Amino acid sequence: MKTTKRYELSKSKVVGEIPLACANELAAVEFFERQRWGKTPNCVHCGSVEVYKMMDAKTGERNKRFLWRCRDCGKQYTVRIGTVYEESRIELRHWCYAFWRAATSKKGVAALEIQRQCQISYKSALFLMNRIRFAMAPDNDSPKLIGTVECDETYVGGKPRLGDGKIRRRGRGTSKTPVFAAVERRGRIRRQVVTNVSGKTLKAAIREVVNPQSRLVTDDFPAYNGIGSEYAGGHQSVCHSTREYVRGDIHTNTAESSFAILKRGILGIYHNVSKEYLHRYLWQFDFVWNTRYMNDGERTVAAIQSAEGKRLMYKQPVGL
Ligand SMILES: [Zn+2]
Repeated sequence: MKTTKRYELSKSKVVGEIPLACANELAAVEFFERQRWGKTPNCVHCGSVEVYKMMDAKTGERNKRFLWRCRDCGKQYTVRIGTVYEESRIELRHWCYAFWRAATSKKGVAALEIQRQCQISYKSALFLMNRIRFAMAPDNDSPKLIGTVECDETYVGGKPRLGDGKIRRRGRGTSKTPVFAAVERRGRIRRQVVTNVSGKTLKAAIREVVNPQSRLVTDDFPAYNGIGSEYAGGHQSVCHSTREYVRGDIHTNTAESSFAILKRGILGIYHNVSKEYLHRYLWQFDFVWNTRYMNDGERTVAAIQSAEGKRLMYKQPVGL
């Protein structure tokens, strides 16, 4: 989500352009170029606007690799340079389709579906989806959450272990993966995998993503005790252990409904996600939550724009 200006220019028409860009490689390349550069394409190497599209001498059409050249530094480049799709040979029309689906599907989209729709290999579809999830990750300089912020934790994936009395236990105390959420009322969300649900861990998670000017709302889980003194708006809690769920505007319903959507997606579309990859799915589900007031075209553009500048930070996961 680099600049809002660029996508102000394009958002009105963008919904109609996406299906075309998913069907035709030239349309896809030019769609990505418009989202990245708007009306003034500039050189990815030196920033100069003295740039031109290279044409094929025989056909008079654009060069097969869709290259640009800069008159100032003399270098060639494509719209892929410096993005999560830079080193990929997968056509941009497939990237466009995958960005579109990933940005607009509330419950997520399976790599199998991308494989089928784009007629690419399963390995390529997985590669696309993992890079797109990475593009959706919050930037290091994303502003912290502010206002009334609900904090809550849940457990995702895995099988609940058998308790001592051979009764299946749920939630706290099982081998599932704990996930922490901080969410603004009618605003943004930040979720993360946490190693445990101790006071030390959860408080550190709160400090990492919530602005100290905020007011915190949680349930009565003791791990949150004492954090209120660090927050200008204090800390209030509802007493879930005595079945109190709402007291005035004190509730964690926003965080809980965000977990419900997450779990439906993880179980319904992805049929479970291993602990080590769960954070990537959180990036995607958070992105969809954070763009829920946009239309589908705006969300897709926001996802594509977030792919810029992320390439170097990406570590290739084992097995891909
Ligand atoms: Zn240049």
